[in-house]
Amino acid sequence: MEHIVIIGNGVAGVTVARHIRKNSDKRITIISGETDYFFSRTALMYVYMGHMKFEHTQPYESWFWKKNRIELKSAWVESVSGANKSIQFTDGQSMSFDKLIIATGSIPNKFGWPGQDLDGVQGMYHKQDLEKLEKNAPNNKVCKRAVIVGGGLIGIEMAEMLHSRHIPVTFLVRESSFWNGVLPAGESALVNEEILANGIDLRLEQNLEEIIDDGNGKCKAIKIQETGEIIECDVVGLTAGVSPNVSFLKNSDIELGRGVMVNRLLETSVKDVYAIGDCAEQREGIGRRRPIEAVWYTGRMMGEALAQTICGNATEYNPGHWFNSAKFMDVEYQTYGWVSGSRKPEFEDQFHWRHPVENICVTVAYHKDTDEFLGINTFGIRMRHEIFDRWLTENRKVDDVMAYLKDANFDPEFYSKHEDAIISHYNQERGKQIKPVKKSWKRIFA
Ligand SMILES: Cc1cc2nc3c(=O)[nH]c(=O)nc-3n(C[C@H](O)[C@H](O)[C@H](O)COP(=O)(O)OP(=O)(O)OC[C@H]3O[C@@H](n4cnc5c(N)ncnc54)[C@H](O)[C@@H]3O)c2cc1C
Repeated sequence: MEHIVIIGNGVAGVTVARHIRKNSDKRITIISGETDYFFSRTALMYVYMGHMKFEHTQPYESWFWKKNRIELKSAWVESVSGANKSIQFTDGQSMSFDKLIIATGSIPNKFGWPGQDLDGVQGMYHKQDLEKLEKNAPNNKVCKRAVIVGGGLIGIEMAEMLHSRHIPVTFLVRESSFWNGVLPAGESALVNEEILANGIDLRLEQNLEEIIDDGNGKCKAIKIQETGEIIECDVVGLTAGVSPNVSFLKNSDIELGRGVMVNRLLETSVKDVYAIGDCAEQREGIGRRRPIEAVWYTGRMMGEALAQTICGNATEYNPGHWFNSAKFMDVEYQTYGWVSGSRKPEFEDQFHWRHPVENICVTVAYHKDTDEFLGINTFGIRMRHEIFDRWLTENRKVDDVMAYLKDANFDPEFYSKHEDAIISHYNQERGKQIKPVKKSWKRIFA
């Protein structure tokens, strides 16, 4: 029986295993050194915040694996030989495979800062990071202040986690405004305000110079590069992005770039070896997508596509239109299509509306010559994924999107609706006379 070995039990590895099982009787082994069972990485923060127990982040009961004949091996892989079809573990054992799927995710970036390996300095990616944080920052008596370095999605989550236990947080962000490489200026400003309103000491355009040792191998303070200021702290969170977790493959015969190089079929340079999820790097980005996509749903999609290929139905990874969602403290964010941040291409124009009082805003991007709708970001308003997916596929014009905006709203009925105000602002700014079209369930489910 063909033996499929998967390194990594995250969303990518587990999805491919489940779908291979649905379609075949192949022998499947999943290996991970992190945890015995798959858990939802995106829910880690809620464990620290007391909203759920770690067990609740595991979508499948422990009997699921045996019932579905998916063997689980708890071990760290040290190296891989594609040509010999074997993997070696750190404990000296080895395992052979007929097909290998690398799904080893990411690791937090470290940029060689002095003191980056001291006790109390950590990322927020693995379950072990959660355990470290629990030990280093159980409360504001043990951890009197934390400093977070790096203003992305994981950084703001870590700030929120610590804030939930009333631990003062200083947040160092290299850019002039939070995540402004991705978010348009108005949205980025809104998030800055949200961070400050939560009492977090946000420092824009400030970089870490070094982490200072207390003399016993533990951090006691950090120094800021621009000002020389020393900030005393018990925990330093390193959240300056992530990189593919592929260093164990450095001496293998598998081609690496920043990640494991793959084609659209998710095949690596070695026959019968594949890579999916955060660790995979497309030879060319698909559309405007980055070659490495470190997000949850793309790992799942890659797993689904690869399972088809492994089971004899060659299927390219075809993720469709970009979308994503996140939460910035109390503000929900959704994005569909492409809305650029500070690196806006020359052809893109944007319309921005912000609620006069609340943290609610919308940015719509469109092609400035053709008026084609390119994408939308919303803060504090939930939108329907299928509607924007359809409108993007249909290459709708921006005026049309504005007119039918009520169809896209997914907020509960009793929520205040803002489409009339948004469209009125659009008309005023652009000298248009678009009339909001009444929401139609028939159109929505067409
Ligand atoms: C705190 C946090 C919040 C996030 N929030 C969001 C969000 O809101 N939305 C979103 O889209 N994405 C979010 N992400 C990103 C998302 O979680 C990842 O994109 C996704 O989990 C990656 O899945 P994966 O299966 O590729 O890898 P992973 O989930 O990283 O799984 C890989 C597994 O392989 C194991 N492994 C690695 N190397 C070896 C080895 N040599 N031997 C054995 N085992 C190994 C790892 O330990 C790990 O268990 C978040 C990430 C974090 C850390």
